[in-house]
Amino acid sequence: MPELPEVETVKRGLAPTFEGAKISSVDQNRPDLRFPFPENFSKRLSGHRVTTLSRRSKYLLADIDSGDVLIMHLGMSGSFRIENDVLGETPGEFSHARSKNPKHDHVVFHLQTQENTPARIVYNDPRRFGFMDLIARPKLSDHAYFKDLGLEPLGNDLSGETLAQLFAGRKSPLKAALLNQKLIAGLGNIYVCEALWRTGLSPKRVAGSLATGTGKPKQKANELAAHIRSTLEDAIKAGGSSLKDHTQADGSLGYFQHSFAVYDREGEACRKPECSGTVSRLVQSNRSTFYCPRCQT
Ligand SMILES: [Zn+2]
Repeated sequence: MPELPEVETVKRGLAPTFEGAKISSVDQNRPDLRFPFPENFSKRLSGHRVTTLSRRSKYLLADIDSGDVLIMHLGMSGSFRIENDVLGETPGEFSHARSKNPKHDHVVFHLQTQENTPARIVYNDPRRFGFMDLIARPKLSDHAYFKDLGLEPLGNDLSGETLAQLFAGRKSPLKAALLNQKLIAGLGNIYVCEALWRTGLSPKRVAGSLATGTGKPKQKANELAAHIRSTLEDAIKAGGSSLKDHTQADGSLGYFQHSFAVYDREGEACRKPECSGTVSRLVQSNRSTFYCPRCQT
């Protein structure tokens, strides 16, 4: 499942083609993905221009000059690929067999780019947990998708102060609080495990323990905020280089593999040079948590 850094990477990969492009037409090859497409989906987009492409949590948002916002969610297996006359349609060395299967091409945006060249952005999704929607821009923040979303972990809002405010008095485990989308939006299991490991904080610790009695941040809250940001940014950086390979080869904007320090490494030695611990796995809120019981306290 794509996590926030992958969605951000897809956004950065699509932006040069999508932003400023005029949508000539849209092929919608099914009535639904996870949810039905909105009524007149193709009609409401065709002939309009994409002004900006942005991201909120794991949603991609394309502002359309009609006043609508095109919402795109990748679900479990959604991916985009860009096709144009330069890239062609020949699968390249880096092609993902899964994402190239035309049977799963559910939406094709036919574009005239800002440089006035024709291009296609193809949405492929074998499992169809992804979805698309159109919402008028003024109604966006009150919409069910967005109204309860917490702060954006890559935005300026994330700091030791905001973590302390969000967590003060909370008795839930720190891991669960970090995964609570109403507090912080888009932070997934893998990156929570990695950020906690980098900070040396136990996932089992009470969330409120990061705040003082008056709701001020303890030092570890400041460190955790910095490590959440750096964990995500490192992954985006890694994705950016992998993305470059993909677009050069065949235009696919698929998923990429990272090397994780603690995630999925149960039984292996802790990678901190000064630590002799072993990575453990435990189950919290039905999700696997990987951590080092020795250096994460
Ligand atoms: Zn350790």
